[in-house]
Amino acid sequence: MTVTEPGTEPVTERVTLAAGASDAEIIAAVEAWLRAHLPEDWQAAVARGDLAAVEAIREDPERGPAWFDLLGDSGLATPTWPVEHGGLGLPADRGAVVTETLARYRAERHNRDFVGLVLAGHTILEWGSPEQKAERLPALRRGREFWCQLFSEPGAGSDLAGLSTRAVQQADGTWLVNGQKVWNSYAHLADFGLLMARTDPSAPKHRGITYFLLDMRTPGVEPRPLKQMTGNAEFNETFLTDVVVPDSARIGPVNQGWSVAITTLMQERNGLSGRPAVGPGEADELVARAVGNGSWEDPVLRDRLLEAYVEEKVLQMTTVRSFVASGDAAPTAEGSIRKLAHSVLAEKLGVLGTDLEADGAVAWDPAEGSEAADRFLAMKTYSIAGGTSEIQRNIIAERVLGLPKDPDPERHLPFNERGRG
Ligand SMILES: Cc1cc2nc3c(=O)[nH]c(=O)nc-3n(C[C@H](O)[C@H](O)[C@H](O)COP(=O)(O)OP(=O)(O)OC[C@H]3O[C@@H](n4cnc5c(N)ncnc54)[C@H](O)[C@@H]3O)c2cc1C
Repeated sequence: MTVTEPGTEPVTERVTLAAGASDAEIIAAVEAWLRAHLPEDWQAAVARGDLAAVEAIREDPERGPAWFDLLGDSGLATPTWPVEHGGLGLPADRGAVVTETLARYRAERHNRDFVGLVLAGHTILEWGSPEQKAERLPALRRGREFWCQLFSEPGAGSDLAGLSTRAVQQADGTWLVNGQKVWNSYAHLADFGLLMARTDPSAPKHRGITYFLLDMRTPGVEPRPLKQMTGNAEFNETFLTDVVVPDSARIGPVNQGWSVAITTLMQERNGLSGRPAVGPGEADELVARAVGNGSWEDPVLRDRLLEAYVEEKVLQMTTVRSFVASGDAAPTAEGSIRKLAHSVLAEKLGVLGTDLEADGAVAWDPAEGSEAADRFLAMKTYSIAGGTSEIQRNIIAERVLGLPKDPDPERHLPFNERGRG
């Protein structure tokens, strides 16, 4: 399919979009493809707004994967990936139009695929060997492999480069890994993990780390679910005990894993900074709820809702602007500004949601759950995940505003000599 005559071309499974295509041309081409390929009952459920029915198809053990295979092969699941790796080769802002169009049909990839599709995908594209690309990218594109991130440790979160999980290379070239990770979302379900481990403790902390694509089924890998205050248990602490990792699972050079991690972290911040499209968002949902339950009549609440509404739209526009400006370039520290703004907004929306439905937020039936309470309890997510708001402020200060670095007198000391003075 091309975008020269939107909607009129013969539909093939593989989509082709020109980098210079307009929003309207991209939307028309994606919609034409969806009309030809999205199952009819799915399209009908979307048309009548029956989200439960759509979710049932998406989660169906046969129909869900079949759809995501097709989406992956079309290139639409990975619009910014290079064409030779099954993407459409579009710049970030054009890719966002594709993803937003899919989202209107609830046909986009699951949120829980973020680590695989965005973090692992882009890290492998930038740093992977030809073999790693050939082995991992097709499955990532189709959602056939589920990934987790094994970065944080009990003693290394904000100071990620202070991690102490050890990987020691053995005589046969394999690596023996021992340590403990924590806060690993969905690690108990994952096929692969993005793992950072210390390989040279005698080097300064940023220089002795190596990055691996860990097969989570390897003996000695033990994720243990952690229950959160929302009642869900998406998090894990992951114990690594005498895990033997082949050298072919190493991504990037030995002891240069921090550079590889920067790619992952930039993608993470960029991805956690809100939708790259101007349209209905969380504030719109809250406005609808307030109108529905009468709290819209309260002038103070209405004022707060409108303020949040405007902030969300401004953030969306800024995100679009930033995607357009960056084009094909990798995300930069500027993403920290949007991540910070999104975190502040998410908290504001969490509190507002509670104030709109005070009863549902403080006294709910645990068997039925409460959307207001869930939103309130989860509202800190964005201000911690992917680097806390304080860390984003540090990054903005140092790398965007050019202010002096946080003092760290031990920065250049070997890792194993830190903390002795
Ligand atoms: C929803 C969610 C999902 C997550 N998923 C994953 C995952 O899949 N994989 C993974 O590896 N990790 C994951 N994390 C962990 C997350 O990356 C860490 O929680 C985060 O980096 C903070 O680290 P920490 O919890 O160790 O806090 P700490 O680093 O101990 O920080 C404690 C407090 O001190 C502040 N602070 C620390 N250093 C500074 C400084 N230099 N200047 C100013 N203030 C500072 C912090 O801002 C924070 O308020 C997830 C976290 C959340 C909330």
